[in-house]
Amino acid sequence: MEVFWERIRQDALSGRGINAEDALTVLRLPQVEIWRLLDVSETVRRHFKGDQIRLCSIVNAKSGLCSEDCTFCSQSIRSKALIKKYPLIEEEDIVMAARDAKLRGAREFSIVASGLSMHNRRELDRVGNAIARIRTDMGLETCVSLGALSAENISYLLSRGLRSVHHNLETSRRFFPSICTTHDYEVDVRAVCEAKAAGAWVCCGGIFGIGETVEDRVELAMTLREIDVDSIPINFLNPIEGTPLQGKFDLTPFCCLKIIVMMRLCHPAREIIVCGGREVNLRDLQGLIFAAGATGMMIGNYLTTPGRPAEDDLRMIEDLGLRVQPL
Ligand code: SF4
Repeated sequence: MEVFWERIRQDALSGRGINAEDALTVLRLPQVEIWRLLDVSETVRRHFKGDQIRLCSIVNAKSGLCSEDCTFCSQSIRSKALIKKYPLIEEEDIVMAARDAKLRGAREFSIVASGLSMHNRRELDRVGNAIARIRTDMGLETCVSLGALSAENISYLLSRGLRSVHHNLETSRRFFPSICTTHDYEVDVRAVCEAKAAGAWVCCGGIFGIGETVEDRVELAMTLREIDVDSIPINFLNPIEGTPLQGKFDLTPFCCLKIIVMMRLCHPAREIIVCGGREVNLRDLQGLIFAAGATGMMIGNYLTTPGRPAEDDLRMIEDLGLRVQPL
């Protein structure tokens, strides 16, 4: 076992990342080993990323009414969750949300819309205009999560000042058909590869606690490595009432931490951003996400659920002796 500990430390510090077998061992380690694991992941995070933490924030610019049937999502066609449903909000409202995000300390602002893809030219123009203002007037980094965008539409948004395209693979190729039957995994893989080819910074990760196995978690990590994503958002299921996964609390805080560690050791030099489900799944252990290897987190509200006050997150970062990455 000593060989294992030395190997994962060295493989991660070398920048290549640990192999699938060791990633699986990490996820299967007993709870008592968590502190030794955090020592490794903290060393690796500091080696590549120092003590700076990236904060991002989102606006749910178009909510609900999605044609897709993702089991975990309150906006899907299968969901009976009592959420607000509305078409794309006005440019001014997007810009106002970005202003609030900047005041909360966010460095990056993402415009998120439900649906498999945004094709409508008028909608894209509205998003493009908002991006241009957010970039020029506020200096925030901009991101969109608008589904599987065409290369042409990504190029248009990049020309307006967009930096990142977010599109999650959600889980492993093997498990995906169990959580979504309305589109194929390859549609998402292609969308991510096209965004990268178009020159966008690509933010792509998944959601955990949806019934996947530890093997699925490792398979997702390896697929993300194959397609060479830049930033990995990690979501933990918040099993909202009215969704097919309502009430499914499979994760423990230690389990969440091991998932973050596994991602950090598989992707030593990438950004790892902890997003939805942080508060409900990690509870009082939220402060350990950075030792586990996270280099950022989402602050403010999530898509259809409220986050905790941004001041609490900023205080947590300060108390840990870390620093918010400035604009
Ligand atoms: S995750 Fe995205 S594609 Fe799936 S149902 Fe929700 S909004 Fe639609």
